Amino acid sequence: MGKIAIISGPSGSGKTTVCNLLEKDPRIKKSISVTTRPPRNGEKHGEDYYFVSPAEFEQMIRNKELVEYAMYCGYYYGTLIHPLEDALKKDLIYMLEIDVQGALQIKKKFPQAISIFLLPPEKKTLLQRLKQRNTNKEQDMLLRLEVADKELTYKDMYDYCVVNDDLEVTIDTIRKIVNVN
Ligand code: 5GP
Repeated sequence: MGKIAIISGPSGSGKTTVCNLLEKDPRIKKSISVTTRPPRNGEKHGEDYYFVSPAEFEQMIRNKELVEYAMYCGYYYGTLIHPLEDALKKDLIYMLEIDVQGALQIKKKFPQAISIFLLPPEKKTLLQRLKQRNTNKEQDMLLRLEVADKELTYKDMYDYCVVNDDLEVTIDTIRKIVNVN
């Protein structure tokens, strides 16, 4: 029987880098979400996300294809139900990189899911990382920082909080939490 591991954290906390490194382990599989956000430079459909139109997303909601979904900074994001069910049948750790709204929905449906909140070492690091991601428009960056403040207030609802200071230590800590050593 597989396990679900939820990874949340404010934009710029390094979630995607951490999840991509964790996925190098064949026992860990990352869920590919569906979103209406436009792709960033280098992002690929079916690899980073399934990029769809708002109408397509709303159709997926009606068809009950999503196990959770949320609106984040004006775009829809959601987790497909079928790949999650398939991963649970296998002995895999299915990693969901989702926001706090999605994490709450998953915890309700799958109370045994392990939830991890990734924290940046300091707020100024968030700003630096968001700035480095130079595809973010100023407006978008400010909105993400505002949302980050709100998201941080939810961190105590998670099973674990991990400060992403040293990437190697972070990976090691999460591997221990999900029990793949
Ligand atoms: P980004 O636009 O930076 O890729 O993602 C924005 C936020 O949406 C991040 O907090 C990310 O974890 C979250 N997110 C990505 N996929 C999903 C999903 O399927 N469901 C939910 N609820 N949030 C998601």
